[in-house]
Amino acid sequence: MSDNPLAYLDAELDDLKERGLFRSLRVLEGRQAAETTFDGKHVINLSSNNYLGLTTHPKLIAAAHDAIDRYGAGSGSVRTIAGTMSQHMELEAKIAAFKHTEAALVFQSGFTANAGVVSSVLGKEDVIISDELNHASIIDGCRLSRAKIAVFKHKDVVDLRRVLSETQGKYRHTLVITDGVFSMDGDIAPLADIVEVAEQFKAIIMVDDAHASGVMGNQGRGTVDHFGLHGRVHIQVGTLSKAIGCLGGYVAGSRALVDYLIHKARPFLFSTSHPPAVTGAAIAAFELLQEDPTLMERLWDNTRYFKAGLEALGFDTSGSETPITPVIAGDAKLAMQLSDRLFEEGIFAQGIGFPTVPNEKSRVRTIVTATHTREELDLALKAFEKVGLELGLIGAKALAR
Ligand SMILES: *Cc1c(COP(=O)(O)O)cnc(C)c1O
Repeated sequence: MSDNPLAYLDAELDDLKERGLFRSLRVLEGRQAAETTFDGKHVINLSSNNYLGLTTHPKLIAAAHDAIDRYGAGSGSVRTIAGTMSQHMELEAKIAAFKHTEAALVFQSGFTANAGVVSSVLGKEDVIISDELNHASIIDGCRLSRAKIAVFKHKDVVDLRRVLSETQGKYRHTLVITDGVFSMDGDIAPLADIVEVAEQFKAIIMVDDAHASGVMGNQGRGTVDHFGLHGRVHIQVGTLSKAIGCLGGYVAGSRALVDYLIHKARPFLFSTSHPPAVTGAAIAAFELLQEDPTLMERLWDNTRYFKAGLEALGFDTSGSETPITPVIAGDAKLAMQLSDRLFEEGIFAQGIGFPTVPNEKSRVRTIVTATHTREELDLALKAFEKVGLELGLIGAKALAR
């Protein structure tokens, strides 16, 4: 017997290795860009959430430099003590105007925004009705709230109505919550129908637009804008970490919601606020979204082109409708093999398996950005064709093309 009380971790790790799920972290040795270097290899990068290429945009970099010069490297406190800088207020005003809400509140990440808002707005006498494929940070927020958690089938409004009927009258408050765009399949929530049904039951409605902000709706305002639902979704969550190209999350909604969160949301209360460079860059990003429509146009051009290419090759892209395009491989081992072989061919598309997705739906997930060139996308499609044939994921149909 080992006398290391943590020895059981080795057994758990061995088990992951056995199931093909053990991964070492790929190390980015340059900028987060469409072509860059990971683990010493130059690759076309299809794995980031950098939808608009803003991580390296000159305007954001200049804004970050300027913020550091003026305000320093760190904020030195949580927001509720001494760490609310004028820049934080400016960013929140920008976000509220962008989302057409009364107010907005920035959190350290999208994860803490979800966990903070759900766990503080709901309590143990309440019920949360959640799409079965909602993001992990929503699930953790639900658990932290100690509310009853009820799940409806993915995107299934009939099932949502069933759960609303079954829970009606039994709880103090009801929250219906969905991702706007689902992060693993790239499909879009039927938000107009969800809102319609939730309103009939007088439920609170919350949407997590982490993958929709900067991607969908007018100038990237997200799914609420895309479906014309301004004023009908009570809590909108977004992230500054994906299309916005920086780091952070936010909640947009009524003034009362934001005032309440300032007093109750634990990540906001007990964790230090963003440093000036991050806030400065995020402000610049929101300005850019409204100044430069070509970013989103290029993103969607590339999305249509690459998705059509994968589908023409015969890959299963699982009904994706957005720049997130999964390529289903089957089990986790095959997905990791696909990812590894693509990497050898100069394409970085991360393999994803259980518990993030069901084992038999293991995949590589691709995300194109506004900054990929047609040549890069063509090279990627060639590599997918070569490796897909090699692994038997696509067949003669592709060859006969
Ligand atoms: C990425 C993501 C988050 C977390 O955002 P971070 O800013 O990276 O913490 C939350 N919700 C969804 C749906 C996401 O995809």
